[in-house]
Amino acid sequence: MTSAGRVQKGSRKNYQKELDKVLEMLPREYPGRVPTLLLHSCCAPCSSYCLEYLSQYFEITVFYFNPNIYPPEEYEKRVREQERLVMEMPSRHPIHVIEGEYDPKLFYEMVRGMEHLKEGGARCHACFSLRLAVTARRAASMGFDFFATTLTISPLKDAAKINEIGTRIGAEHSVRWLPSDFKKREGYRRSIELSREYGLYRQDYCGCVFSKKEREEQKLQDTSRITYFWEKDESRL
Ligand code: SF4
Repeated sequence: MTSAGRVQKGSRKNYQKELDKVLEMLPREYPGRVPTLLLHSCCAPCSSYCLEYLSQYFEITVFYFNPNIYPPEEYEKRVREQERLVMEMPSRHPIHVIEGEYDPKLFYEMVRGMEHLKEGGARCHACFSLRLAVTARRAASMGFDFFATTLTISPLKDAAKINEIGTRIGAEHSVRWLPSDFKKREGYRRSIELSREYGLYRQDYCGCVFSKKEREEQKLQDTSRITYFWEKDESRL
């Protein structure tokens, strides 16, 4: 911390290293069995690398809970791609998928008053909180060992904030939060390769109506300053 109370850049926690520590302890903490993980997924492309990586250590259930997605046809498209990926992807330990409730009212109530904010701000933090709280509740009620989210793979999302929210919510629901920063160690790049391999549908906006509008405005301005997700790094592959 600086004297002004700001967190210095270099002091940010490396959540990939935090994940490494947990993975290393698993055989001792869960002797003779494979631990279970409820993995919140935002979309099939983001989940691809996370599943390839984490299914070496866990029996995973993908939890598709995203009431933020607009419009409903887009939601349908994304959830079906998620199911297809889970069916087609080989894995060391079994992977299952369950769909949460799609009730956009939950999202609009959660972000009321923050509709006008830009992607990456407080509206997104509320959106993360909603999705992680429901995931944690489900993980606790179904007896999972851990819960986690694919959201930290996105270069546009603040992994530290997601981990901070996940840690808090995990403590509130007495279920272990699995820390992550999946974009480290080329996770994001690998997700693009896997998405190509499986021919996954790749959206060009985060998910909510506000991000869709923001993206459409950026496209109209034809600015190279802001690019979204896949467009950003694809040329570097
Ligand atoms: S931009 Fe994405 S993370 Fe932010 S509120 Fe919209 S859907 Fe949620």
